[in-house]
Amino acid sequence: MSHSSKRLKTAVLGATGAVGQRFVELLADHPWFEMTRLSASDRSSGKSYQEACGWRLPSPIPRAAAGQIVEDMEPDGSVDLAFSALSADVAPEVEMAWARAGVPVFSNARSYRLEPDVPLLIPEINPDHLELIAKQKAFRQLPDSGFIVTNANCSTTVLAMALAPIERAFGLRRVSVVTLQAISGAGYPGLPSMEILGNVIPFISGEEEKMESETRKILGKLTGGRVAPAELVLSAQVNRVPVFDGHTESVSFETARPARLEEIREALTSFRGEPQEAQLPSAPCHPVLVLDGRDRPQPMLDLYREKAMATLVGRLRPCPVLGFKMSLLGHNTIRGAAGGSILNAELAYARGLFSVLRGPADRPSAFADFRVRQLRRTRRSLGGGGPAGACGRVEDYI
Ligand code: NAP
Repeated sequence: MSHSSKRLKTAVLGATGAVGQRFVELLADHPWFEMTRLSASDRSSGKSYQEACGWRLPSPIPRAAAGQIVEDMEPDGSVDLAFSALSADVAPEVEMAWARAGVPVFSNARSYRLEPDVPLLIPEINPDHLELIAKQKAFRQLPDSGFIVTNANCSTTVLAMALAPIERAFGLRRVSVVTLQAISGAGYPGLPSMEILGNVIPFISGEEEKMESETRKILGKLTGGRVAPAELVLSAQVNRVPVFDGHTESVSFETARPARLEEIREALTSFRGEPQEAQLPSAPCHPVLVLDGRDRPQPMLDLYREKAMATLVGRLRPCPVLGFKMSLLGHNTIRGAAGGSILNAELAYARGLFSVLRGPADRPSAFADFRVRQLRRTRRSLGGGGPAGACGRVEDYI
């Protein structure tokens, strides 16, 4: 079944990079969004996408993209939305130019994340922060249809997803997190092999500050058109490790109100949000998945659970310093970047925030087709065995 006549025209800015390629992979047969424009730098524009990007993902390059000619960054007001995977040096100017041309922009770059009128969105946690868009349009005098929504830094996303249910149930006073971050987080080609193979680098520029400030904004309360950052004290220490994809995080935390281990586990396990209720196409069934194995989660074994759209939690246990501790894992270029941005756009679309709304009557069948294809893809990436546990049956996707 073809949905092309009903899908929204979508641009990917920075389509050739590590995150851009994930966008292209995830959007290839999206039920609502159709990639009609792929843009990158002057180094790439004018070439076919295949030639320009040097495809680096294990799945085959999508046919819908391979032959497309990569274009420059000139805003195109005729597209319905744009995803940005641009480097932070060019993102601020380019993203605002597209918003001014009347295009909703869903950005991965850090540039606007902490601006008071820009949502820093994780749809399961703070969907109400989308209300900032009205303020943004007025403050920046954007045309009716144009705005910017950001997603968090990849390591922040992994952490915030696990902290949110605990914050809601018991409050959080202090959090300490130590990360082990994959090399794909540094983009392509990233670090020289002689710097990272067999090594650990205890520094990623700006990352600790981003984790500390972004987490507080995401968990913050929207009141009177402003986000008051959450009051928890958070300390982050980051490391780059020789893992290809997937950020691991060791977290200790102190709750504001007394909690038992089983209650924290229950808060994590039962966590759901608007994407699950609305059955958005990219939503995981379980945004936080608690694993039981004593040595889990592991990037090599668990990363693609829940379509790589969840934070995986393991080793929840008492901590003699702060009360509790746990290990987290999340996919940095899927939930931490392109997949997170796509979910943001799905939420905005479902809430009627785009000026162009088409084909809602077609949604149920489009969802079903898409979810079955996603499940097959996940099974292939797991060597045919299928994802164990949540969302494992085709029926769960429909
Ligand atoms: P990347 O691999 O270096 O890709 C950067 C992209 O930006 C490429 O498409 C590149 O095009 C384009 N670009 C660079 N300079 C440009 C210019 N002057 N004009 C127009 N386009 C230009 O980086 P990435 O890892 O995909 O990251 C993209 C963004 O996502 C960054 O802001 C990053 O901080 C953020 N992010 C990354 C991750 C992750 O895990 N990697 C996670 C969350 C957020 P060419 O190929 O033509 O040079």
